[in-house]
Amino acid sequence: MTTKRALVEVRGLKKYFPVHRGMFRRQTVQVKAVDGVSFDVFEKETLGLVGESGCGKSTTGNTILRLHTPTAGTVHFDGTDLASLQGEKLRQMRQHIQMIFQNPYASLNPRLTVGQIVSEPLRTFKTEMSKSAREEKVQELLKLVGLSPAFINRYPHEFSGGQRQRIGVARALALDPAFIVCDEPIAALDVSIQAQVVNLLRELQEQLGLTYLFISHDLSMVRFISDRIAVMYLGKIVEIAEKKTLYQNPLHPYTQALLSAVPVANPKVERRREQIILKGDVPSPANPPTGCNFNTRCPLAVERCFVEEPELRELEPGHWGACHLAE
Ligand code: SF4
Repeated sequence: MTTKRALVEVRGLKKYFPVHRGMFRRQTVQVKAVDGVSFDVFEKETLGLVGESGCGKSTTGNTILRLHTPTAGTVHFDGTDLASLQGEKLRQMRQHIQMIFQNPYASLNPRLTVGQIVSEPLRTFKTEMSKSAREEKVQELLKLVGLSPAFINRYPHEFSGGQRQRIGVARALALDPAFIVCDEPIAALDVSIQAQVVNLLRELQEQLGLTYLFISHDLSMVRFISDRIAVMYLGKIVEIAEKKTLYQNPLHPYTQALLSAVPVANPKVERRREQIILKGDVPSPANPPTGCNFNTRCPLAVERCFVEEPELRELEPGHWGACHLAE
């Protein structure tokens, strides 16, 4: 068992979205975007959250930050249950938890200067701060993310994608948060810029002691930045382990299939590598299969998998998996 301190503890988190159809807009079904997710994020670590698009990883991040109200479950941040906070208490807690968004083109208001964008959290939460102190803080933040303080009066359209994401990072750091959810922070950037932004996030983590939940569909990037990795499929966590353990010994058939699709740099290993091709599509989260939700695509499924849902259990110290056959 690890002795690291959990800064964020997620337990049984669910987020269902009602679907309304028909003339009277009656609720017909619920989309189970996040369906009973539990994990810890340890202090000063990066937990990677991976899975195919639509598996519920971004909804998990948004629900942890209370951008969505959870349907069920708890999220403790430093001992306080975020899921039960309301009003001013929730607003105050938001200072300590921030988000870096996926699309630096859409997440910055084009009508505001860089100074206004980065200082916006300070104006909201640090109302006692003078204008000059705010300006000084913004210049410090710009330097911290590798931008010139002279950019303070420029507008987002004057910057490249990578620079815009740096502005988004500066804004996220304005209130000295402890925990940041990075939601596909590099997905919209050119490949040549992606490594720069990820390196910046790593340096900032080192320097400021930050804790990250790093959401991505890109297994190579998650491997590069994460300490531990959680794999999601159809609204549920199917495996969690230290990065090295997960890549060397994936125990869940879905993780095995995902990893088999990642190219290996060594050409000899690459030639020997066999890719596991999964059959069929991911089922709809409005109508997930009974039993194990991976049973429609799993090459190893047995009778039990269609009637009994596998629990996420600790298969070896620090290595959790949700599969009846994994041991
Ligand atoms: Fe496959 Fe069954 Fe394991 Fe689910 S529980 S991953 S269907 S073997």
